[in-house]
Amino acid sequence: MMNDYLPVPDRYTNGMVYARCGHSGVMLPKVSLGMWQNFGHDVPFERCREICRYAFDHGITHFDLANNYGPPPGAAEETVGRLMRTDFAPYRDELFISTKAGYVMWPGPYGNWGSRKSLMASIDQSLQRMGLNYVDLFYTHRYDPETPLEETLQAMVDIVRQGKALYLGISRWPLEATRFAIRYLAERDTPAIIYQGRLNMIDRAPEDDGITALCAESGLGFISFSPLAQGLLTDRYLQGIPADSRMAREGSLHADMLTPELLAQLRAWHEEAQAEGRTLAEKALRWVLDHKAVTSVLVGARTVEQLARNLGALR
Ligand code: NDP
Repeated sequence: MMNDYLPVPDRYTNGMVYARCGHSGVMLPKVSLGMWQNFGHDVPFERCREICRYAFDHGITHFDLANNYGPPPGAAEETVGRLMRTDFAPYRDELFISTKAGYVMWPGPYGNWGSRKSLMASIDQSLQRMGLNYVDLFYTHRYDPETPLEETLQAMVDIVRQGKALYLGISRWPLEATRFAIRYLAERDTPAIIYQGRLNMIDRAPEDDGITALCAESGLGFISFSPLAQGLLTDRYLQGIPADSRMAREGSLHADMLTPELLAQLRAWHEEAQAEGRTLAEKALRWVLDHKAVTSVLVGARTVEQLARNLGALR
């Protein structure tokens, strides 16, 4: 396929804001693009391409993946691999691409959790799927209560030493294990630079659990996943469950989450947002971005229109 993509020249001055990621040298866009859903093989490639082009044209330099994003698992990384070939190879140094390992990925005892065996194989698979020599950021995707923390963390250190990742991150680890990980990685000169957790107007656990405070005091950035609570914090569900919505697809967002109490709260926030001249999605993203520990929000977008509207949060 011919590379006919020419990013817009003003992509770094047309509205994006960048923030330093903790005490690292890396600047991240305040709005980053997550590829958990909407970038698998269930979606036409041209739609993924359109969203990624729009993102990059608006200064979104950070794309977030994991080994198992799809469907099927691995498909989102394959989509990025294809996009690198068709569009983005000339701009590799302008992109900050993350991936993760730790959730179930391939069958058998080595395709899941945090063993050295699993992580070492996973990073190689990810690089191959994406056609990259290295990722910018590699995460432990979740805490593994069975594997010694030192084993997981040393594998991550070695992944950096092997040149397969530039930086390390921690996702969804509990507080004390995170504290241990931060110390372990820093002592080996491969510091964690970021924590990925779910912080939004509905779910404030990282704040309540002390994670955001730990990030701030330890010099880690914090990036929020599902900042729109998978779409709940938008106008999507105010009048029922649309047929093309994530909730209707009955995957990761269950209808029983939408209790009458939550719906009443969403409607109240929606009205507040309207009075402020914003959409609920903009208000929800702004709320996360205004948190002093937060570096960036990882939005999911099924369409260019959604992504465009989410960028309204920066205004
Ligand atoms: P969001 O909370 O941003 O939800 C995205 C969904 O919300 C979209 O697919 C769409 O749903 C709806 N939506 C988005 N923008 C709008 C809008 N402007 N108006 C109306 N509806 C909108 O994020 P995700 O839950 O998708 O997560 C984002 C990223 O976070 C992931 O891609 C991944 O990178 C990361 N993540 C990490 C996890 C971890 O364990 N570390 C776990 C989960 C996510 P619809 O399809 O209904 O249109």
